[in-house]
This record gives sequence, structure tokens and C-alpha cells, in this order.
Amino acid sequence: MRIVTTKTALRAALAPHRGASIGFVPTMGYLHAGHVSLMDAARTECDVVVASIFVNPTQFGPNEDLDAYPRDPEGDAEACRNAGVDVLWMPPVADVYDPDHSTTVHVDGLTNTLCGRSRPGHFDGVTTIVTKLFNLVQPTHAYFGEKDFQQLAVIRRMVRDLDMPLEVVGMPIVREPDGLAMSSRNAYLSPDERRAALVLSRALGAVRRAFEGGERRVATLRTILGDTLAAEPLARTDYAELLDAESLTAPSGPELGDARPTLCALAVFVGRTRLIDNTLLVAGAR
Ligand code: AMP
Repeated sequence: MRIVTTKTALRAALAPHRGASIGFVPTMGYLHAGHVSLMDAARTECDVVVASIFVNPTQFGPNEDLDAYPRDPEGDAEACRNAGVDVLWMPPVADVYDPDHSTTVHVDGLTNTLCGRSRPGHFDGVTTIVTKLFNLVQPTHAYFGEKDFQQLAVIRRMVRDLDMPLEVVGMPIVREPDGLAMSSRNAYLSPDERRAALVLSRALGAVRRAFEGGERRVATLRTILGDTLAAEPLARTDYAELLDAESLTAPSGPELGDARPTLCALAVFVGRTRLIDNTLLVAGAR
């Protein structure tokens, strides 16, 4: 595995591979099995696997956890090596953004809800950095987790709208054995908070069970979500929503239709840590 830190070194490392299929896994590091699942998919499907580790400052709000974000470059390099990554790109901020950087890529509509509403400017940071990373790596395939469902939808839209020449591949959420969605931010949780964090997957499970049992009333499903979340004293809900999974807009009537999948998405503060999780409600699927 080659480790590169500059754009120049990245371009040089990839020059011999142009024409081959290049699978790209962008991350912010502190890698876990969720990240590795993306690398595994890239390894299976592509000739060359590139991973990046970059804690992108422009996608963090002023009062968010940029400075505290967990980092472990050596452990991450080891995880990438074990996952069969060919080129690991770990750039410093100064090599990514020119001091007078002044261009933003903005996806409208899909970014107006969920995390886009709670974290103003977040998705502009994401789409701008992902565009830069795509331009530098020039992957044929890029891998993203459904854990960040809205991010995946926004990137798919950006790639479609701007005719970016690559395939976006979405991968399922990887969970801890007890159901907690894996996240680098889980490292912030105290033991009590770690137990409390199970409320997210518990709430999603309760909604899923009701849906699979035939419940389609949006108000009832919302109540199930709200009641489950409210029962956990260490948790404070940022959002808990049922939305059309493609448009990310509110259901059109009081009952969910069976023709289109519904996204059930949560953002919950457990102590000071903001966790997200989601599930898709698909009629007829189990
Ligand atoms: P991050 O380092 O949190 O920016 O995540 C990098 C990529 O890994 C994103 O595409 C995430 O959606 C994906 N990812 C993070 N956690 C998980 C998980 N638990 N399961 C699957 N993919 C994940």
C-alpha cells in the first residue's frame, strides 16, 4: 500500500492505473467495520482501491466537533492495509484548500431537510470536498454508506446533475452486535451513554415492526418513534422523520403508500454526541 499526503503524490501514484477501474472510499478516518465494508466492496469490484482520510473542516459548523474529532492515523493505515487498499491518501488541510478557495458546489432541495436543516452549510462542505476528491482521484466507482443516507442521496444527485463520470455505490449500514450503527463518533460515548445510544436502533426497530405488521398511519408511526426516543432520559431528539426515500419530502397523505420506499431517519444527541441512524420501510420486504 502506498501512503500519499499531497495531491502531486496522489496523481503520480494513480498515473499508471488510468484506464483501470478505480474504486474510491472517502472517509474521515478513525476507521471501523463500516468503513472496511466499503473497502471490501471496492476491492471486490475494482482493479485499484483508493481510500482517503480527511477530516474536512468545511463540513463542520462553528460549534461542532471538528477539533475533538477522533483520529488514529496509524491504526487507520493498518486497517486500510488489511482491507487491501492500494493507495491511502491522507492530505493535510493546507494541501487540499488554497487559502483563497472560493468555490462551492451546492445541491438544492435534498439538502433542505434532515441533517441539512440541523447543520446549515454541512452539505455544501460535503459536496464541495467530494467534488474535489473525485477530480483528484478520478475514480470509476465511489463507495458510500447508507448510514449517511441523505449524504448518499445528495452525492448521487450531484453526480447525476453534473454528469460526473463515475458510478456511486451505496452499501448497507454495519452495526455493532447489539444494534448500534457503527460510527467514529461512538468513541465519544461514556458507558452510560453507550447503553442509552441503543435507543436509536430500538426506535427504528419498533417502527419497522409496526410497518411490517401493516401499520401505515404516519401519525401512529411517528408516535411510536417519539415515545421510544422519549423513554431514554440521556437522549435528546434532533429529528425523527418519515420521508419519501427518493425525494426526501414528507409523505403526501396521512398513510404511507406501498408503491415507494419510506425513509425513517433519526438524529439524536446522547449526552453531547450527535448520532444518526436510519432504516428503509419497504412494503413486502423483510
Ligand atoms: P465518515 O468517516 O463518517 O465520513 O464515513 C465515511 C464513509 O463510511 C461514509 O460513506 C459513511 O456513510 C460510511 N459509513 C460510516 N459508518 C458506516 C456504517 N456503520 N456502515 C456503513 N457505512 C458507514
